[in-house]
Amino acid sequence: MMESNGSDQGVVREIRIHGRGGQGNVSAAELLAQAAFLAGEYVQAFPAFGAERMGAPVVAFVRLSNAPIRLRSQVYAPHDVIVQDHTLVTADAGGIIAGLRPNGLVVINAARVPDQVIAVLPARARAVAVPATDIALEVIGRPVPNTTLLGAYAALTGLVPLDAIQRAVKERFPGDVGAQNAAAAERGYRAALSATVSSGLVSPASSTPARSDAPRAGPLLTVGLVGSPGSSAGANGYHTGVWRVFRPVWDPTRCTGCNLCEVYCPDSVVFHRGPRDYGADLAFCKGCGLCAAECQPGAISMVREDELLAAADVRGG
Ligand code: SF4
Ligand code: SF4
Repeated sequence: MMESNGSDQGVVREIRIHGRGGQGNVSAAELLAQAAFLAGEYVQAFPAFGAERMGAPVVAFVRLSNAPIRLRSQVYAPHDVIVQDHTLVTADAGGIIAGLRPNGLVVINAARVPDQVIAVLPARARAVAVPATDIALEVIGRPVPNTTLLGAYAALTGLVPLDAIQRAVKERFPGDVGAQNAAAAERGYRAALSATVSSGLVSPASSTPARSDAPRAGPLLTVGLVGSPGSSAGANGYHTGVWRVFRPVWDPTRCTGCNLCEVYCPDSVVFHRGPRDYGADLAFCKGCGLCAAECQPGAISMVREDELLAAADVRGG
C-alpha cells in the first residue's frame, strides 16, 4: 500500500501538518487519522505543543499503516506535508519542508505554490496549491481551511477515500457544520484534481532525508520558539498579523470615540492617535473581528487582507 519507512511492522505513511493556532491543526490530524481508521488502516495522530495561542505556528503529526504502529516520535522525515497557512513558508520554507522525502508531497493552502517552496523542494517531490481559505469562506463561511485541505490530500494521494474523510467530518461535527465541512472537503478534492503540480529543483543528493528512526543530523523542527534556528516561526520570529485573512479598517466619520474597540481587542493592538482616529498594529492584529463586532456605530469593517494588498500593488504599479 505505502512506502516503507523502516519501521518494525508493515509500511507506514508519515504526514506532518503545519498551521497556526485557531486553524484547526489538531482537528485536521485527528480527522485524517479517523478517516483512515474508518477505511481500515492503523493510525496515529498527535500534536506538538509549544507556547502557542491563536496565530502561533503549530505542528501535528499523523501516521497511517497497514499494521500496528510502534513509532512514537514526532515525524521528522514526512512522506507528505500539509501547510494550512502559506505565510509559514514565506517565513521559513526550509523549516516547513525539513526532512521531506525525495518523492514527497506538499499540499499548501495558497493560490499558487510559493517560490520559496519550489526553491527547497527535493527534485522528485511535488507541491500543489489549493485555495482552501477561499473555499472554506465560500462553503463554510469561516476561514478554517483544514477540511478542504484534507479533501485535497485525499485526491492527491489516493490513500484515504473522500467518503471516509466526509464520514469522519460528519461524525465529529454533527448537523450543518458537518455537512458544510464535508462539502468543503469535496471542493478541496476537486480543486486538487485540476491543480497545477510544481516539481522540485533541489538535487536528490542534497535532499536525502534522515531516517525517522535514526539520530537526526539536520535542523530540529521546533514549535512556538520565537526566531530560533529551524523554528516553524521563522528566523524573524512570528508576527501573528501575517496570517490574518481579514483586516479591520476604521471609518472615522462613523466613530463616536467610545473606545470599546481598544478595550475589547484581545491582543491589545488597537491604538488611537486622536479622539476618533483609531488603528491597529498590523504586525500583531490577527483579524479576529472582535473590535468590529463590539463597535456599535459600525465604524469598523473587516476587509479581506489579500484584496487590500492587491489594491495596494495596483496603486504602487
Ligand atoms: S468601538 Fe467603534 S465607535 Fe467606539 S472608538 Fe472604536 S471605532 Fe470608534
Ligand atoms: S481584528 Fe480587531 S480585535 Fe482582533 S486583533 Fe485585530 S484589532 Fe484586535
